Amino acid sequence: MVATSYSAFSLLRHALTGHRHWPRTWRDPEPKEHYDVVIIGGGGHGLATAYYLATRHGIRNVAVLEKSWLGGGNSGRNTQVSRSNYFYPESGAFYEHSLRLFEGLARELDFNVMFSQRGILSICHSAHEMEIYRRWANAIRMNGIDSRLLSRDEVRQRVPQLNLDCRFPVTGGFIQERGGISRHDAVAWGYARKASAAGVDILQRCEVQGMESSDSRVTAVRTNRGRISADRFALCVAGHSSQLAAMAGLQLPIVTIPLQALVTEPVRPVFDTVMMSARIHVYVSQSDRGEIVIGGGADLYNSYAQRGSLNTQLDTLAALVELLPMFSRLRMMRHWAGACDMAYDVSPIVGKTPVENLYVSTGWGTGGYKAIPAGGDTLAWTIVHDRPHELLRPFQLDRFSSGRLIDEGAASGVAH
Ligand SMILES: Cc1cc2nc3c(=O)[nH]c(=O)nc-3n(C[C@H](O)[C@H](O)[C@H](O)COP(=O)(O)OP(=O)(O)OC[C@H]3O[C@@H](n4cnc5c(N)ncnc54)[C@H](O)[C@@H]3O)c2cc1C
Repeated sequence: MVATSYSAFSLLRHALTGHRHWPRTWRDPEPKEHYDVVIIGGGGHGLATAYYLATRHGIRNVAVLEKSWLGGGNSGRNTQVSRSNYFYPESGAFYEHSLRLFEGLARELDFNVMFSQRGILSICHSAHEMEIYRRWANAIRMNGIDSRLLSRDEVRQRVPQLNLDCRFPVTGGFIQERGGISRHDAVAWGYARKASAAGVDILQRCEVQGMESSDSRVTAVRTNRGRISADRFALCVAGHSSQLAAMAGLQLPIVTIPLQALVTEPVRPVFDTVMMSARIHVYVSQSDRGEIVIGGGADLYNSYAQRGSLNTQLDTLAALVELLPMFSRLRMMRHWAGACDMAYDVSPIVGKTPVENLYVSTGWGTGGYKAIPAGGDTLAWTIVHDRPHELLRPFQLDRFSSGRLIDEGAASGVAH
């Protein structure tokens, strides 16, 4: 099956018949008994992995098992920020690869993912914080990634609405101009559409409820749609990683915490960058639909709930109106949370596991949306070659026994 090409011509052609004859975006097949690779979790990472397996490596007998709907987990709940301004070279190389894939993603998937590189501005509130930002921005530049320090006046020019003399006066900031936002559903749908066209079976409402193992290998998964066996399995289930890994007898160094976000009613374009304050714990952008998208710190307790606590929400809103008082008159439209998979060093764990044919993509925590293209690309490579992709070597499970942790807590932009 070949996906219909999306073009001005096809739009016009379908307009003539009232848009009633567009084909399904992806197929809705019945599960087969056996696949070469079964990917558990139909979020961005699972779908991207399936897409790259099928299109870059010719492995098409692949299934993605999703217990609810595609992108219904964190991939459709996030605030859509993509950037590569991480401190450590290992993270910089990985996230820069992802940002570059994002830059060509709409063309590659023939799906408008609305990637808008409007700049990611991190502001700071003291001379001391400015010193830390100077070190951070320089480290990013040494990683070969664009990053620029901004004085207080330059921040004012960039965001004229900002209340620089708020309770925590703004002293400056730094910006990655190539960072930006995209449409998160479109990223999941775009990968799903092309993966399905390449032969991948996408099975929604298919929950993995148990695993069968023999000789330290997983042989099959038990789902509400029947037993499915495979040669290799990959876990891409974010906040549910510990539960799924436990089914294979594996314990992961992951905890699950809720992270929430809010959007206001839509308004005309008024805010043309992404601004974050790690000190006051708020970050904000305006979506292409006009909503002001607001994120804050994580709830600091373990939970699988997809709703956040009121106190974090109130703290986030207090920070927002302190920095951007003009937003105080907007009405909130929606509020939700996602279950984030956090490793102790706030870096991902992607690669092989002690279970021979089980691979894992987890620990994305509060920042794995930006990683979807590179996560899928490198995990697919790892599955095919049965060894970690070059960019993934630092992000293996063994770092928790060797002590080579990559502490990116400060770079996450979100307080944990
Ligand atoms: C509020 C919020 C804001 C965020 N903002 C950003 C941001 O601005 N930038 C950024 O880079 N990152 C952000 N993130 C993090 C980012 O969303 C995640 O790291 C990323 O989406 C993880 O993708 P995933 O594919 O691993 O997981 P998910 O998208 O969560 O997909 C996992 C899927 O597994 C399925 N699943 C679970 N258990 C089973 C089972 N037993 N059987 C079958 N399927 C199962 C789930 O239903 C789910 O669909 C944010 C997260 C949240 C919650």
